[in-house]
Amino acid sequence: MTGKDKMTIAPRSHRLADLTWPEIDDLRPYAPVAIVPLGATEQHGHGLAQRTDTTRAEVVADLVAQRLSPKVVVTPVIPVGVSEHHMAFPGTLTLSPITLQQVIVELVTSLHRHGWRKVYVITGHGGNNATVEIAVTRLRTDLPDLHLAWSGITPVVADLTAEFAESRIRGHSCEIETSQAMFADPDLVLPDRLTRGSATFDDLDQAGKLSRSRPGIHFPQTYDNLSKTGTLGDGTKASVAIGARLVETAVERISGFLQEFIDLPERQSAPVRTTVPQETP
Ligand SMILES: [Zn+2]
Repeated sequence: MTGKDKMTIAPRSHRLADLTWPEIDDLRPYAPVAIVPLGATEQHGHGLAQRTDTTRAEVVADLVAQRLSPKVVVTPVIPVGVSEHHMAFPGTLTLSPITLQQVIVELVTSLHRHGWRKVYVITGHGGNNATVEIAVTRLRTDLPDLHLAWSGITPVVADLTAEFAESRIRGHSCEIETSQAMFADPDLVLPDRLTRGSATFDDLDQAGKLSRSRPGIHFPQTYDNLSKTGTLGDGTKASVAIGARLVETAVERISGFLQEFIDLPERQSAPVRTTVPQETP
């Protein structure tokens, strides 16, 4: 450990975009982890703003960074995700999966070029998951000395979700997501416009029922087929107290993971490659 490692540093902000480059140059040795928050701009029923996933991702990233300060920096949130399945509702914006994949790869590669070797991606939008997985697969190949981990928010607290949820069918703008939104930013929520959407099996049409009938079998639907209001679950059952439990527990668990992540030794930069000789015909 050098003399510099023993010193403390109190950065003005953990948000990379709020700092100057000399501040980042000073902070970098003390901040081994960069978090990349991903969101969406998509319909969230009658009672939640379109930026709900973006804000939830940003708030969780900020709270984790505050908890672990100064060891974590946060990049600007990517405010548009893969939301093709919500496009029937006015105002939803979407990127194609290949575009979002490329954005993630290039953003993480930028961090790597500035010396970050530990990156955590938090997506507030489950529709980004498949794209994140492919981007992570590419980055693990392209940057073999990078430790790269990712998660959503709700899946990290799946046990609490099962405890607090009342609707059998839920997931989008439901009581769980609406509760998180109430805690993350009250401006996201119009409480008197929250609705019960498709919340039971009987609320779904034939294809919707089939899509939810067999665990492990994927039969994706667009949201206009699943729910007239764009809501799966019951936003009227949400509460800020439930939201606090969900968000604070997610922050605690992600922070706990990152504590151990920070302690990991760096990965080898030069993987052993075996050249397979070409067979002679
Ligand atoms: Zn959402």
